[in-house]
Amino acid sequence: MPASHAQSDAAVLAADTPVERPVYDTVVIGAGIAGLTIAHRLNRAGNSVLVLEASGRVGGAIQTHRDGDFLVECGPNTVRDTHPEVGELIEEAGLLEERIVASRSAKKRYIVRGGKPVAMPMSPPAFIKTSLFSIRAKLRLAAEPFIRRANPEKEETVAEFVHRRLGKEFLDYAIDPFVSGVHAGRPQDLSVSQVFPRLVEIEQRYGSLILGQIRGASERKRRAEKPRSAAPMFSFARGLDRLPRELARQLGEAVLIGCTVTGFAREGREWAVEYSDAADRQQSVRSLSVVYCGGLQQADLLKPLGPETDLLQGVYYPPLCVIALGYRRDDVGHPLDGFGLLVPSIEKRNILGALFTSTLFEGRAPDGHVLITAFVGGSQQPEMTNGDDQRIIRTAEDDLRDLLDIHGRSVFRHVTRWSAAIPQYNLGYGAVKNALTALEKRHTGLFFAGNYRSGISVSDTIHFSYKISETIGKYIAAQKTIRDEPTP
Ligand SMILES: Cc1cc2nc3c(=O)[nH]c(=O)nc-3n(C[C@H](O)[C@H](O)[C@H](O)COP(=O)(O)OP(=O)(O)OC[C@H]3O[C@@H](n4cnc5c(N)ncnc54)[C@H](O)[C@@H]3O)c2cc1C
Repeated sequence: MPASHAQSDAAVLAADTPVERPVYDTVVIGAGIAGLTIAHRLNRAGNSVLVLEASGRVGGAIQTHRDGDFLVECGPNTVRDTHPEVGELIEEAGLLEERIVASRSAKKRYIVRGGKPVAMPMSPPAFIKTSLFSIRAKLRLAAEPFIRRANPEKEETVAEFVHRRLGKEFLDYAIDPFVSGVHAGRPQDLSVSQVFPRLVEIEQRYGSLILGQIRGASERKRRAEKPRSAAPMFSFARGLDRLPRELARQLGEAVLIGCTVTGFAREGREWAVEYSDAADRQQSVRSLSVVYCGGLQQADLLKPLGPETDLLQGVYYPPLCVIALGYRRDDVGHPLDGFGLLVPSIEKRNILGALFTSTLFEGRAPDGHVLITAFVGGSQQPEMTNGDDQRIIRTAEDDLRDLLDIHGRSVFRHVTRWSAAIPQYNLGYGAVKNALTALEKRHTGLFFAGNYRSGISVSDTIHFSYKISETIGKYIAAQKTIRDEPTP
């Protein structure tokens, strides 16, 4: 069915008169970046799609808030252009001209040590000179090539892996703040093979991370390939939610907001999807396929699919608060000349870290002001998200005053609370992914996509969504061929 039919069908659904339920090629559950990318790709290939979104807006974790001349990202602040599909999607959405790349100074990152932000060394000479690591830690790092490979059969946590290969200080002052900054997680819980599969691969292939980096770099040079860390970071002039909003705009009435899917089941060769609409009416649609992009926070919806779903329900999403604070530039002593600062848990602060938002991108704060975004909670300190907004703001302000030499009070404040922020790929997460594959095999026409499967970054989620859209497209085509075959 062409996209235009899907749109008029969606409109029909909202009407009061009972009609014969239309059959879509795909019903997408959830209008986060995964659901919208898949709907966009399938629609573009001529399939009819219906996207059902529970909340009153599209974008899921991607949310931009504008208040006067302050522009706040409530979820992701930057996307790394690590996969070609990311650029392709932006081009297809017609947003290439609105894309803005993070400022060059974003390469500099600070880590807090002894209560002071210290620049992370970005080159071997800087590493030798830095005060971020002790001489003992530097010597320990130099011994890394002599440490034997681990047994590849035994899954390790990030902490076990890094401690074994690079030493405790490197774990405490580099990896711990990095994983709490990116994953809102704890290195003692996260699985290294799930979160840093490349590191495990390098260890197994070269026997050493340091030698692997050197050899890998020369191999990449031969293949004219860039490392992932060199991929540019970007946003849009009017904020990151431009991408989901534009994708949804182009899909038109094929996206229904305020519609919570309450159940779905296979009926013959089709799927029946039940949802309550924005007016709280129970509705039902039929489709050849269903893609679940709703996240595992609501995994009880999946329970009827089978016992494997117990594993999915056990995935931990820690709470997280994002606190955007605007200050007069003159009140901040620190030059804010970088991406931001990360706080190792060993430093026992209240914030996990802070982004120098107005340094990263222009147009985030009015003239003469800066915008800083602090993070509180995560797996490290979930209890820090308790209490009202005033308490959370004070917590962040107290830490920032000290760390960034701030004299006055903030002149702008905005708090976003995520009760279940980011799925933790903890030890044993491979079984969660296997359960998803098993469910797809058992329930033909059902697919799973989203950050609980693809990797947590926006770019990994887009990359995976492109791949699965192809699989879904082939499935739909095969179903149509069977349906259209004349009965002998
Ligand atoms: C605070 C924060 C900061 C982040 N920072 C970065 C960053 O800087 N860079 C980066 O790359 N990534 C970052 N991420 C991660 C990234 O934003 C997410 O992993 C990604 O956007 C998730 O997309 P998704 O489509 O898988 O899920 P989501 O965005 O969670 O979308 C799922 C959607 O499904 C809907 N839904 C759920 N159940 C139902 C139902 N039953 N019926 C209908 N709809 C349903 C939800 O309402 C939601 O809109 C951050 C995440 C957070 C929370």
